[in-house]
Amino acid sequence: MRPVIGITSSFDEEEERFYLSRYYVDAIAEVGGLPFIIPPLISEAAGGFIAGLNGVVLSGGGDLDPIHFGEEPLPCTRKISPRRDNFELELARTALSKRIPILGICRGMQLLNVAAGGSIYQDLTQGVKQPLKHDQDAPRWYATHSLQIQPGSKLAGIFGRFEIRVNSFHHQSVNRLAPGFKATAWSTDGVIEGIESDNLPFAVGVQCHPELMWEKDPCFLSLFMALVNNC
Ligand code: MN
Repeated sequence: MRPVIGITSSFDEEEERFYLSRYYVDAIAEVGGLPFIIPPLISEAAGGFIAGLNGVVLSGGGDLDPIHFGEEPLPCTRKISPRRDNFELELARTALSKRIPILGICRGMQLLNVAAGGSIYQDLTQGVKQPLKHDQDAPRWYATHSLQIQPGSKLAGIFGRFEIRVNSFHHQSVNRLAPGFKATAWSTDGVIEGIESDNLPFAVGVQCHPELMWEKDPCFLSLFMALVNNC
């Protein structure tokens, strides 16, 4: 049986529609999973989805409402979707409590950290003095900055190396790590670009967008393969 992998979708609050890049869906299908696009419903529905899934991808998207990590909004915070936030936080917490494998990408990594009790910077310049360019103008599949990966970590095992170049489309980043999570990848300015759980079978987050890269560099498919292999 192919494992069923739920992928969260974005919600456009103005146009009242759900949307998701085909790259996430095709990546999961490519590594043998059965992709299932999850719409953000009321948070009470999250448990029902998790019961029918073998694994979860938390996809990229807009900013989290800072109320979820105990802060008032600063001017740097951009578009938020209350509907998506509430549903995804419940979905992530349920997946963590049921020990369902979970991969967070970009916003998904930040949401994973917040769902587990951590916080994020509303803008990554709050955390580092001299940030690199993390919102690239190069093609979306193109790697623009390097990452250092912690030897011995899941990410190091997945990529098979301690240094890699990745694409970058974010202005927020992980601040306080959630209990039970550790940072396992950083850009050279010190921004956390990868996290993973110490004690769960597979709860991994990356700040880059591997879904946009794997068609050009198969190395990035290994993240999705690791998720599916753990399901
Ligand atoms: Mn980056």
